[in-house]
Amino acid sequence: MSTQPSFADNPSNESRDPAYFGYYAMLQHQQNMLQDTVRTSTYRNAILLNTECFEDKLVMDVGAGSGILSYFAVQAGAKKVYAVEASDMALKMKKLVNAASLPNAKNDFLKDRVEVIQAKIEDPSVKAPKVDTIISEPIGVLLVHERMIESFIYARDTFLKPGGHLFPNKGTMYLAPFTDALLFTETMGKARFWEQTSFHGVDLSPLYPDAKAEMFGMPVVGHFDPKSLLATPTPDVDGYEMDFGTITMKALRDFVVPISWKAQYTGLMHGVAGWFDLLFSGNHDSEASQPIEMSTGPSAEKTHWQQVRFMFREPLAVNAGQVIRGWMHCVVNDMRSYTVDIEVIAGQYGELSDPSQPFEPLLEQQAKGQGHGRTSEPAKIEEIEEDEEEEEEDDLQFSRRRGRWELHEQSYNYSYTGSSNDMLTKPEHLCMYEPENVDDAYGGITYTV
Ligand code: SAH
Repeated sequence: MSTQPSFADNPSNESRDPAYFGYYAMLQHQQNMLQDTVRTSTYRNAILLNTECFEDKLVMDVGAGSGILSYFAVQAGAKKVYAVEASDMALKMKKLVNAASLPNAKNDFLKDRVEVIQAKIEDPSVKAPKVDTIISEPIGVLLVHERMIESFIYARDTFLKPGGHLFPNKGTMYLAPFTDALLFTETMGKARFWEQTSFHGVDLSPLYPDAKAEMFGMPVVGHFDPKSLLATPTPDVDGYEMDFGTITMKALRDFVVPISWKAQYTGLMHGVAGWFDLLFSGNHDSEASQPIEMSTGPSAEKTHWQQVRFMFREPLAVNAGQVIRGWMHCVVNDMRSYTVDIEVIAGQYGELSDPSQPFEPLLEQQAKGQGHGRTSEPAKIEEIEEDEEEEEEDDLQFSRRRGRWELHEQSYNYSYTGSSNDMLTKPEHLCMYEPENVDDAYGGITYTV
């Protein structure tokens, strides 16, 4: 653990609890999720098309919120659902469940089937038996934001019978290089406010570097046009899979996603975009099982998770056909989220740094212009006679980008939805240029003698 050793050893979230559970105690925030039709119908399909995992079974709903997943589980025939919810939304759930016992209740199917437990799942006072199936929606932006998967995994280890089922059972993260000159310009514009030397007579410019660091250090959460991707990840090859059935707490708190793309266009890479898919496999061992998948990618139907983008302070020029290598290192932070370090190199030369090593010195080097091919003094002629290795190192300095971002509640929402004239957008409108000979760019040149 390089970035926050002391914190990762004791990665408590508790100081955030009042704000976090205060938020979820409000109906309007539960409603926001309920009204995400893609999300809610995916869960409903996953549950109702896999009744094998629910019929006459004991089920636990981890972070039940309004209780919607518990109600779906009862619709699928669950014998009993233990609905664990830490926030005061549990009281609202009780109201709804208790109303099922009134005469002529519309919800009478829920009668005696749902036991609401108001507690954090990690609280040792939670009294529930081992269950056959655990359902939960612990998913945040880029899959892991909010760090609730840790609670899901805790429930798995504490309350799931051996061979029991998890809904969902897998998440896959995707990363891709994007171009977005407009977003870059807008962000620069915000930072440049601090460049002024006489704002009501005050020189703000000493704060300009900090402003730039702050504006670019915030991941951008929002939807974007899939056409702005310089390379499209292939589902089976490029995804970073988290198997909720086996993943450890340690692997959730500190992980590295390898990056390897081949640019499909010539253009400016402004940063790295990310999203995820969710998988509900149902009962792996049964033929009746109907796996359900949901994507939150830029080409899929929109969800409240949107996508996320990490923007470089300086774009990286890439050529069609060029390889882009790198990694993204995510380490939990105390804002119920992650510190995200990214390094990429365009082209095949040069070695990536080791993601497990401290990243700060590299960032400092970059900020000072070292490790970036920038020297303040013009080079003297005799100094230009470098050996080959140094030249290669120089090239690398131009083709490498590094950055750090803090994902947290304030990650800003950018409502850019791309051109309304989607059908007419062509790569060159986004300053992405197709290689003239596509075969050359993708497959390498084949010479015929
Ligand atoms: N299951 C609901 C709500 C999902 S939002 C639905 O799908 O609509 C996540 C919910 O989990 C929130 O209501 C939050 O208060 C609750 N939660 C988060 N962490 C929890 C924990 N450790 N223990 C219990 N509840 C938790």
